[in-house]
Amino acid sequence: MTMPANTDPDLILAETEVPPVFEENAGSTSPFILTCDHYGCLIPRALDGLGVSAKELERHIAWDIGIAGLATHLAGDMNAHLIAQRYSRLVIDCNRPFTSASSIPLISEATEIPGNAGLSHDQVDARRRAIFQPYHARIRDVLDHREAAGIVTILLSLHSFTPVYAGIARPWHVGTLYHRDARFPHLLRDALRAEGDLVVGDNEPYAVSETTDYTIPVHGEQRGLLHSGIEIRQDLIADERGQRQWADRLARILGEIESKLLQTIQAG
Ligand SMILES: [Zn+2]
Repeated sequence: MTMPANTDPDLILAETEVPPVFEENAGSTSPFILTCDHYGCLIPRALDGLGVSAKELERHIAWDIGIAGLATHLAGDMNAHLIAQRYSRLVIDCNRPFTSASSIPLISEATEIPGNAGLSHDQVDARRRAIFQPYHARIRDVLDHREAAGIVTILLSLHSFTPVYAGIARPWHVGTLYHRDARFPHLLRDALRAEGDLVVGDNEPYAVSETTDYTIPVHGEQRGLLHSGIEIRQDLIADERGQRQWADRLARILGEIESKLLQTIQAG
């Protein structure tokens, strides 16, 4: 197929299309900041569905199923600032460095993405400028502002994972993720395990790294913020009821460990 020559970010996203950044509770002084890199599955109209069927664009390859509802409920329960990104990770993955092959993937699981093949430097740059950069610039600005205002920040990066990947079933209900700093992830892991009814992954189903992740390495580690990733299995939050239950449970647990987290920050 032929793709339109989208060299201008203004042509990637028309004025009538929604902006990439979605927020709840901006200005909240809760210590928790919630980010959601894979919140949405929109494809800019100019990209013509990336040559992928509408059915494929609803699958986990396009976004983190269930996480949007979970994120909104959790932000509401905690009155925490949520910063999320509405466009599909198949357009550009907001949790990948530009050097990663899956930044703009040619294939995801077993699905080829024809609209991502043979892009010019300018076309790649246009996607970065239209979607990736505004999202991360907003997170950076908010974190800068909070730091300048002396507001304590604990970063929680929200994700969901498919129960079966490439034919392999995953046993965990939820996992907490990290790279160099396991302080918050291990507190959260232990609190989730104490619930008694959950299989909790420790850096499962994924571990964070600088080559496969962006949000935690850049906004968490490089800034020295207390941070964790969390991955929730998608079948548990596929509907409104599951999203609500998981949001309520996570809000309660995060509230329970908040004072320990604040002590950890004070202890430096
Ligand atoms: Zn994700």
